[in-house]
Amino acid sequence: AGGRDVEIREEPVTTVDGKSIEVAANVGTLAELEGAVRQGADGIGLFRTEFLFLDREGPPDEAEQLEVYAEALDAFPDGRVVVRTLDVGGDKPIPYLEQPDADNPFLGERGVRRSLGPDADLFEIQLRALLRAAADGDGRLSVMFPMIATVPELEAALETVESVAEDLEAEDLEYAIPELGVMIETPSAALLADELAERVDFLSIGTNDLTQYVMAASREDDRVAALHDPLEPAVVRAIARTAEAGRAGDAWVGMCGEMAGDPDLTELLVGLGLDELSMSAVTIPEVKAAIAETETTDAEELASRAIESSTKEAVQKQITETNL
Ligand code: PEP
Ligand code: MG
Repeated sequence: AGGRDVEIREEPVTTVDGKSIEVAANVGTLAELEGAVRQGADGIGLFRTEFLFLDREGPPDEAEQLEVYAEALDAFPDGRVVVRTLDVGGDKPIPYLEQPDADNPFLGERGVRRSLGPDADLFEIQLRALLRAAADGDGRLSVMFPMIATVPELEAALETVESVAEDLEAEDLEYAIPELGVMIETPSAALLADELAERVDFLSIGTNDLTQYVMAASREDDRVAALHDPLEPAVVRAIARTAEAGRAGDAWVGMCGEMAGDPDLTELLVGLGLDELSMSAVTIPEVKAAIAETETTDAEELASRAIESSTKEAVQKQITETNL
């Protein structure tokens, strides 16, 4: 995908029959904000905050983070900005944060596991900055937690938000509680999506990790690249289940893994019931164009055929046939 010459649409798009789908950008640096605006992103669907912590001697303080989050909100005066709390570990090491040698770092202490453990102090500082940024965000700031696998982990993260809010209140600092969400990137989270959806405002599916964990196939090992495919029926079903759980639990459901940026898969994702797609900025114009050509009922039929497929080839065939 990518590279086709399509018009840039600055306005949000709908399907042919009028269903709104938010098309947002994944950003990993402040410089990328500008590209996201230029490509017509409706907002930021994944702000990877690791970059704030990289290439330096120690972690950024509250004031520095507050400034960065405010800048992201300013870049999208009418758009939502979804910030992911620090996701260290696995493929994302940070030199000055001690990471013990683990036999299998991808199954080790990473993402929210660190935020609720050895990096609890950093988690609090980040949440303080986020809640303070939310005060000026007119409800547009959202915060999500990576690598959640259990309900108690989510509850602990939500309790930290509450206690940070109490501290800010006591200090007489302005703050607001942002919209809160969970990344669905472990099989456990996908299977518990109904439980999670009851407790938050939104779910965002991270297909890069979700595919790796559902298929037990590393996202970094070429020898198993064929298995690391989000069109594997098990992954498609995990997505379908998550979208359904979100609807039932009154939580909007987005996707911020790479799958979301493939315009050939847009119709399938609309049919699976996603409300938001977040991707690297370059693919936004093509995905917006694809949404504008999609009929929801056709998309839903494609999705149900995909869900019933038993191989990724069969899923791919359904997609190819509808694209003809
Ligand atoms: C994902 O896992 O799909 C995701 C969006 O997060 P990251 O690629 O940063 O792990
Ligand atoms: Mg991930």
